[in-house]
Amino acid sequence: MAIYKRIILKLSGEALGNGGACFDAARVDAAADVIARLAEKGVEPGVVIGGGNIWRGRFTEAMNPVNADQMGMLATIINALCVEDALIRRGCRARVFTAQQMDRFARLYTAREADETLASGGVALLAGGSGNPFFTTDTAASLRAAELKADAVFKGTTVDGVYDADPRTNPGAKLIRDITYQRAIE
Ligand code: UDP
Repeated sequence: MAIYKRIILKLSGEALGNGGACFDAARVDAAADVIARLAEKGVEPGVVIGGGNIWRGRFTEAMNPVNADQMGMLATIINALCVEDALIRRGCRARVFTAQQMDRFARLYTAREADETLASGGVALLAGGSGNPFFTTDTAASLRAAELKADAVFKGTTVDGVYDADPRTNPGAKLIRDITYQRAIE
């Protein structure tokens, strides 16, 4: 019996690649295995995937941030199509929903249809972020969790918690085990 019925799983785009290549088939398969197992256990997984394995940030400050973010959102859709394929190969009913109109590739996200997919035992891959620039897929995951009344949000990423600095660039960064929203803001 699963503890949570409906979850949003946020996977960072880097979970699908290996640093050198955008995609590593073994890592895509590993991510799909986890998602398929959740669905088999009766969990309703809504999956938000980032795009950092394909595109992140901007070339330089001269680049329009809106174009850069649109490229990032498209990267999340490429990732979702990749994971959809891996899930379908496992016999899992998976469907990509995008925040942007993308008729021939996927369905335009509506909370109602994503809810129906999840409630009927399918996996909803929630791609394209929130559809707006200046946000990240973490925000999109929280937004979709609220819309779809998820019981919990899980984040699979390369950093194992909240730090007081970026642990990848600052070896002295300290792990903060518990933190409130208010303390993080302060
Ligand atoms: N993005 C955006 N709006 C959103 C979600 C994502 O503009 O609602 C863009 C943004 O440029 C972001 C990129 O898409 O950097 C990829 O998402 P994210 O950085 O969250 O991916 P991750 O680091 O988790 O792989």
